[in-house]
Amino acid sequence: MAFQQEFFSLKGKTALVTGARTGIGQAISVGLAASGAHVLLLGHRDNLEETKAQIAEAGGTCETVLIDLSQTGSIREQIKPVLQKHQIDILVNNAGVIYREPAAEFDESEWNRVMDVNINAVFILSQEAGRFMIERGSGKIINIASLLSFQGGVFVPAYTASKHAVAGLTKALANEWAAKGVQVNAIAPGYIETNNTEALRNDPDRSKSILDRIPAGRWGEADDIAGAAVFLASKAADYVNGHVLVVDGGWMGR
Ligand code: NAP
Repeated sequence: MAFQQEFFSLKGKTALVTGARTGIGQAISVGLAASGAHVLLLGHRDNLEETKAQIAEAGGTCETVLIDLSQTGSIREQIKPVLQKHQIDILVNNAGVIYREPAAEFDESEWNRVMDVNINAVFILSQEAGRFMIERGSGKIINIASLLSFQGGVFVPAYTASKHAVAGLTKALANEWAAKGVQVNAIAPGYIETNNTEALRNDPDRSKSILDRIPAGRWGEADDIAGAAVFLASKAADYVNGHVLVVDGGWMGR
């Protein structure tokens, strides 16, 4: 079918976005809702008012789902009723945590917490939502990767390992599910002004060296990621599979 502008519309679709309270997850939630999707905002505390208000202002609709993604043993039983009640057309695995410590001293419980939220929960949610998508023959899964899906980073070994795994899982699922009508892709944001990068921005030397390498000449904003998510969630991306889309102001090209 020849391209039509409506291919970008998400009208009639339902999306589930994890980590929707702040930053990139919030911006993606508002972007998907403004494009017509009904959005289930997943958080782990009942504090999603700001995202709800932004969606209402954009004329969209949403509701909340409360699940602690660090408790991987109970995610399946908590997500099942949600998946039975709603047809999830779009799953955005965005929630993520970062812990900074030199590798030689790195705390093992922090290693496990980072891996649980950043990759184990992504696998569990993709598997649970993916089964329904496969059955229907359609669906979009968008994982939030990182530049540390490609690079090693400094003092964040668990984060780097988890984000390399996100890129790998994206390709592995895409290879199995592309022929079943389910597109699995990832977005690798560059350096974005959110809680996740607060420590970096508070360090004048790191902050300057990062900024000096970004061809766009500025840190990214969470809203910079929303358009890529809308594209990957839409019919316009039906033939995009297993791709990690870098949105970084040009960092990786430098
Ligand atoms: P953020 O503002 O800290 O967002 C992280 C979100 O995840 C928050 O809404 C947080 O909720 C939620 N979350 C944390 N632990 C959770 C748990 N156990 N269960 C459910 N939700 C949980 O930072 P962000 O930058 O927007 O991060 C979003 C994603 O982008 C992450 O995967 C991050 O790794 C990735 N990323 C960010 C950058 C960047 O430069 N900012 C670059 C590359 C990739 P609470 O705040 O309520 O804890």
